[in-house]
Amino acid sequence: MNPLEELKNYIEYLEAIGIAYIPASKELLKFVKSETSFEEDSIEKLKNKLKECKACALHRIRKQAIWGEGETSADLMLISEYPDREEDFHNKPFVGEIEKLLIRMLAAIGLKKQDFFITHAVKCKTPGNRPPEPEEVLACKPILLKQIKLIKPKLILAMGFTPPKIFFEKKLSFSSIRGKVFKVKEIPILFTYHPAYVIKNPATKRLVWEDLQKFKHLYIKFVKSS
Ligand code: SF4
Repeated sequence: MNPLEELKNYIEYLEAIGIAYIPASKELLKFVKSETSFEEDSIEKLKNKLKECKACALHRIRKQAIWGEGETSADLMLISEYPDREEDFHNKPFVGEIEKLLIRMLAAIGLKKQDFFITHAVKCKTPGNRPPEPEEVLACKPILLKQIKLIKPKLILAMGFTPPKIFFEKKLSFSSIRGKVFKVKEIPILFTYHPAYVIKNPATKRLVWEDLQKFKHLYIKFVKSS
């Protein structure tokens, strides 16, 4: 049993014997419970659990929680933000113009969309396409972490402002992490802008180009030559 699971059981035990007050912040208790709520040990079980997930209020307005697209045997994982209306409708990340731009961006470094398993940081669409609230990110975090654990990619490309909220407890400016390489469960991960943001802010094209070049080097080092 992992230490988080053990801590969760202990908290449940204290509650069961009538200890109403536990000296920990509400956020910590919520984190411990959410972090341990996806114990599925296979991709199929996790997928089924996701279909029924009601861990945050976003389940009320979604058409479905989106699992992702691509082979789960892929060496590469791409993590996007959260589904917009179109993605919710089509049940997949990246559609329309944004998908076309993504395909061009990846082609520029010799990769294809099909080389990746592509998923969202937060799996359900939000009202009016607003960024997910911190508690929604927190509730959804275990699903993505479990996907990473089960899929075991060799390298991850994260696009947009939502993925860092999953991986960094502290609020960091996007510019301080963009284009840098971090590790998630020993897997290298690079953060860059989302294609939808690039369409609205063409000045970011040059930065994304630099990031993608870096990603290509990581690909050669960690995937091609392994
Ligand atoms: S956003 Fe994530 S945690 Fe919230 S209901 Fe959807 S799948 Fe569950």
